[in-house]
Formats: sequence, C-alpha cells, structure tokens
Amino acid sequence: MDFAVFFDQMVSEYVTGFTQTEEAMNRATYDVILKDIISQKSLITPADIEKIAAHLFTGVVSTANEEAVWSGDFRRLSGDQQYDIYKEAQDKFFENVSKKPKLKTAQFNQNNNLYLFLYHRDSYYETVAAYRTYKLPYSSGKFLHSECMICLEDFKEKSFLCQLKCKHAFHTACLALCFKDQVACPICRQVSIFNQYFYGTLVILFIICSVFSINALKIIIRNLCCSSF
Ligand SMILES: [Zn+2]
Ligand SMILES: [Zn+2]
Repeated sequence: MDFAVFFDQMVSEYVTGFTQTEEAMNRATYDVILKDIISQKSLITPADIEKIAAHLFTGVVSTANEEAVWSGDFRRLSGDQQYDIYKEAQDKFFENVSKKPKLKTAQFNQNNNLYLFLYHRDSYYETVAAYRTYKLPYSSGKFLHSECMICLEDFKEKSFLCQLKCKHAFHTACLALCFKDQVACPICRQVSIFNQYFYGTLVILFIICSVFSINALKIIIRNLCCSSF
C-alpha cells in the first residue's frame, strides 16, 4: 500500500466531506433562526424564509432585480423591518458559530490493517464570528452614511449592502469588485474578513497512525493456541 497516496486521498476526502457538512449545517442554522424570528413576528411566507436563508448563505442577490425575488409579503415590509430580520438572523448566526468546537477528529481505516486518526483545528468560524460582516437591506438612519463610497451613488431603500466590521457599508456588488484587488475597507483600510478566509479554513494539527498487520496477529494467536496443546 502506498501510504502517501492513501494519506493524500484521506485528507482530501475529509476536507471535502467536512466542508459539505458544514455548509449544509450553516444553511440549516439560518433556516431555523429565520423561522424562529419570523414566526414570532408572523410576517412572511416559508418560501421567503428559504430565500433569505439561501441569500445569507450564498451571498447571491441580483443587484438589479433584488425586489423581484421576494414574494409580496416580504416586499410589503418596510426597510426597517427587512433590516431587522436580516440583522437579527446574522447576529444569532455569528453567536452560534462562535461557540463551535475548534478541534475536530476523524478516524479512518483501510483494509483493516491501517488506522489513522486525523485532528484538525477549525479556525474558520473564529474569524467569521470575530470579523462580523453583515449583509443588510438599506434603511435610512441605520447606517453611517447614505451613499456608496465606491460608486458614489445614494443607497436605495431596501437595496442590499455589505457592512464590514468597521461599520462602513457598500453595495455588495461594488465591494465584491473592490475586493478583487484588496481586502481592506476602501474607506478606513481596516482589514476585512475576506482575506481571513484564505488561511482560516482548515489547519491540520497532527496525525497518529497505528499500523499493525491482522495476519501477523492471527499467526501470533494461532501459535499461542497451538503451544497450549
Ligand atoms: Zn456602489
Ligand atoms: Zn471601514
């Protein structure tokens, strides 16, 4: 058995599986939080809850047609109400992920004769919680300024903004373009979460492997048994 190949394969499978599980969990977490918030206020439909959860999770909202994706129920809410729903859902999510355990383990074996234990330190959620970046619908009076300092246009009520930890906010699309070249806030230069993602995801700490041959063990057991006769 080529140990190096097996090891590479195991780690890549683990990382992929881990990412998929975490993504599904994040999406489900947003879903539960939103259902909870919205049922208390009985404001909008389950279909909208799904869309908001998906939006928070993937970050994809078309800039031109933001309004069109929501049902009438959600569109009828005031900018303030929409802002509150988004803000509360993200606050709860950040709190939730900040409590996630940092050390994870996984166990693998191949052909019953190689056992591997993999430990990794998950610093992704630490940075997500520490560098809270919000996705919020604009509502006048809730933000530090009323225009996007990247494109210089006034914010439209209910249009989506990305608010960085420094509280400066920009159109999500403008900021996404801006972050292709830099990772700091365009106004105050404070480093944003986006560059933290690169080195914050998975840090593999150490590996313990115990290798023993089942066949050898069988021979030992058989010899022990035989010698007793
Ligand atoms: Zn802009
Ligand atoms: Zn800033």
